[in-house]
Amino acid sequence: MSTQPKDIYLVIGGSGFLGRHIVDKLLARGDSVSIFDIVQRYHDVPFYSGDISEEAQVAQAVQKSGATCIMHVASPPHGIDDPALYWKVNVDGTQAVINAAIANGVRKLVFTSSAGVVFNGEDLVNIDERLTPPEKSMDAYNESKAKGEQLVLAANGKGGLLTVALRPSGIFGPGDRQVMHGLSQVFARNQTHFQIGDNTNLFDWTYVTNVAHAHLLAADKLVPPKQLTEEETQSIINYYLPT
Ligand code: NAD
Repeated sequence: MSTQPKDIYLVIGGSGFLGRHIVDKLLARGDSVSIFDIVQRYHDVPFYSGDISEEAQVAQAVQKSGATCIMHVASPPHGIDDPALYWKVNVDGTQAVINAAIANGVRKLVFTSSAGVVFNGEDLVNIDERLTPPEKSMDAYNESKAKGEQLVLAANGKGGLLTVALRPSGIFGPGDRQVMHGLSQVFARNQTHFQIGDNTNLFDWTYVTNVAHAHLLAADKLVPPKQLTEEETQSIINYYLPT
C-alpha cells in the first residue's frame, strides 16, 4: 500500500481537449480536482479564471484549491502566427507555474510537452525520450514547448517539487477542436485529390483517453526516489548513455 498522501489536483488548461479528459479520469477515480484556465467551459469542478503568465493568479489558484499536484496542459494551439504569444504562455507562463508551485509547497508538476520538440525536418524512426531537441526548432510553437519542457525538468527537486514532462504526438478523440476540424475543412473544400509525397510517411496518433491516462500514471509515479543500489544507478546511467 502507498504511504503517500492522496494528491489534490489542479489541471491548468483543464477547459481544453486533453485537459478535460484528464479531469474526467481524476473524477472517475474519486480524486479532488480544480481547473485553472483563461476560459470556462465546464461547471462541475471548482474553476479558477486566470492566465498562467500571471504568477500571482496561478499562486492564488494553488492556494485556494490546496493543490499538491499540478497538471500543466495549457498552451496556445499549434499553427498560429504569433511567436510572442507562444513564448509568453509556454515559456514565461510555465516559469510562473513552476515559481507558484515551489512557493506554495506543491509536490508534483506534470507538464504536457509535445513530440514536435524533437522534430528537425528529417524522418525520426525508432526514437525515444532520450532524443534531445534540435538546435533549430521546426517553428515557434515547438521552440517554446522545448524551452518550457527544459524549465520543468530543470525544476525537478527544487523546494521538494518533483517534475515530469510528457511528449504526446498527435492526439485524437472526442472533444478535439483542431485536427478533425482542419480535416473536415479539407473535405469541405474538395481538396481530397491532392497527394503530397509518395504516401509512405507515418505519423503517431494517440487516442486522447490514453494520453490522459499517461498523465495520471506519470503523476502517480512522481514519488521521492528511493535510495538506489550502485548496480541500479549504473543501469540507469547506461540507459541514458547515447547508443
Ligand atoms: P486545447 O487548446 O484544447 O487546450 C488548451 C487549454 O489551455 C485551453 O483550454 C486554453 O484556454 C488553455 N490556455 C491557453 N493559454 C492559456 C493561458 N495563458 N493561461 C491559462 N490557460 C490557457 O489544446 P489540447 O489539444 O488539449 O492540448 C493540450 C496540451 O497538449 C498542450 O500543451 C499542447 O501543446 C499539447 N499537445 C497537444 C497535441 C494535440 O494533438 N492536440 C499534441 C501534442 C501536444
